[in-house]
Amino acid sequence: MIDSLTELESICKSCQKCPLSQTRTNVVFGTGNTKSEIMFIGEGPGENEDLQGLPFVGKAGQLLDKYLAAAGLSREKNVYIANIVKCRPPQNRDPKPEEAAACIGYLRNQTAIIRPKVIVCLGRIAACQIIDKDFKVTRQHGMWFERNGTFITATFHPAALLRNPQNKPEAFDDFMIIREKLLEVSTSELYK
Ligand code: SF4
Repeated sequence: MIDSLTELESICKSCQKCPLSQTRTNVVFGTGNTKSEIMFIGEGPGENEDLQGLPFVGKAGQLLDKYLAAAGLSREKNVYIANIVKCRPPQNRDPKPEEAAACIGYLRNQTAIIRPKVIVCLGRIAACQIIDKDFKVTRQHGMWFERNGTFITATFHPAALLRNPQNKPEAFDDFMIIREKLLEVSTSELYK
């Protein structure tokens, strides 16, 4: 376990533990306030993320920012955002189990350093990795699971919401529930 996020990021940026290292432009380590009490976790970088080295940019990222703002959150101020895999799977395919297995240690280490009180999985892949391998986002989004004092939930991936806008009201409700949970468990001025 590395106890410095800067050191972990530097190690991750030269990682070659899986074949995604050969096709990436940039490693997308994560972004946001490292003092956040909430972490959002997606599945992996897409094309824009790979080009810019940042998670959730492009149209899906802009949609995520709107939901964050509605819940009093922003990546500049009080959230941290990362992915299950730090390098883009070609053609935006799902990460393979062996790629996720190779990479998940970085996310575990990030989480251990940041120690969030609330974790939100964005989409099926993240929810299946973090909550339950059989997780169904359409049926179980917005439900809370507690693990070692951390509250974990999942909502729709913003890219899925762009494809299926009929789910947007349910996603909005999830962000309101997330806001309530933060107000309940947070002791930080970042969420007042
Ligand atoms: S996806 Fe993760 S494990 Fe694979 S090369 Fe990138 S940083 Fe390393």
